[in-house]
Amino acid sequence: MIIDLISDTVTKPTGKMLEAMMHAKVGDDVFKSDPTVNKLQEKAAKMFGMEDALFFPSGTMANQTAIKLHTQPGDKLICDKYAHVYNYEGGGAAFNSGVTCKLIDGQRGMFTAAQLEEAVAGRADIHVPYLRLVCIENTTNKGGGACWDFSELEKIQKIAKENSLAFHLDGARLFNALVAKNESAEQYGHLFDTISICLSKGLGAPIGSILLGSKEHIAKALRIRKLLGGAMRQVGFLAAAGIYALDNHINRLEEDHQKAKEIGAVLSVASYVTKLEEIETNIVIFYVDEKIGADNFIKKMKENNILLTPMGAGRIRIVTHLDYSNEMHEVLLKALQNFKSKN
Ligand SMILES: *Cc1c(COP(=O)(O)O)cnc(C)c1O
Repeated sequence: MIIDLISDTVTKPTGKMLEAMMHAKVGDDVFKSDPTVNKLQEKAAKMFGMEDALFFPSGTMANQTAIKLHTQPGDKLICDKYAHVYNYEGGGAAFNSGVTCKLIDGQRGMFTAAQLEEAVAGRADIHVPYLRLVCIENTTNKGGGACWDFSELEKIQKIAKENSLAFHLDGARLFNALVAKNESAEQYGHLFDTISICLSKGLGAPIGSILLGSKEHIAKALRIRKLLGGAMRQVGFLAAAGIYALDNHINRLEEDHQKAKEIGAVLSVASYVTKLEEIETNIVIFYVDEKIGADNFIKKMKENNILLTPMGAGRIRIVTHLDYSNEMHEVLLKALQNFKSKN
């Protein structure tokens, strides 16, 4: 038994999801005639109370499209220093849109309205790149699955609006935040100009993301997706997995969060753990004693068929997900406890 906790993207479609995929009605989506893709897009737009939605092969392409539709070359976007759009999209903001990123030094991937206010000052000065877009990430990936305080987001949106800045949410794991904080998709749909969500993370679909926005924004997104090579044909087979995921895999995220908290409880009393970040959703980030070393700890765990990721600077990440069973959970908790007794 391999216990793969590297990411919530490692899941395979469930039997029922596969069945939904196999029976999907499909057509050529480039001509907008794939009924299953249309159904998924309508369903997502309705969930968020937004006008329109567009299916993408990846979250990266959905974010990159959002950045491109809100900016012109030479412009600047603002995000946290941990943001996926800055750190993990291959420099796409610069490559695809010709924009620079101004980074805010936030906490666990989250900044405050006061920090944004400070960063926005002097925007009219012709020497500085024109600030056009604010990007938020919820939950934060590099920040360990942390959830934003919604009232802070409302304050941030107000500042964005006052300064005519577009407001984009990288919601790759937004559903984890909605479940953890008992929030609704509509309240986010109301606040942001564009939102990307991943179907291929905690929701367990094999592929797919969605970009949500106004009709005008999504019309632009359709052209940009084409130019990025993301216009697909009989893709309803994949959209069917997305529909199944939205119908069946949202509420169960609570189980992933519960397991992450139980892992945290073991780590919090383990002698070899020097620091454990607060666990809000399905991501656990911790540091082990320098004498053991993160890479060595990961290697030892791998010998027990437990796969974890290094996150740099001595950080180790565990991500719980749909394919992480109760049985695996028992084995992992024991392995973490036993590691303690050996050291
Ligand atoms: C995974 C992820 C994405 C998109 O990733 P893809 O692998 O391209 O689907 C975007 N933002 C965050 C925060 C993510 O964790």
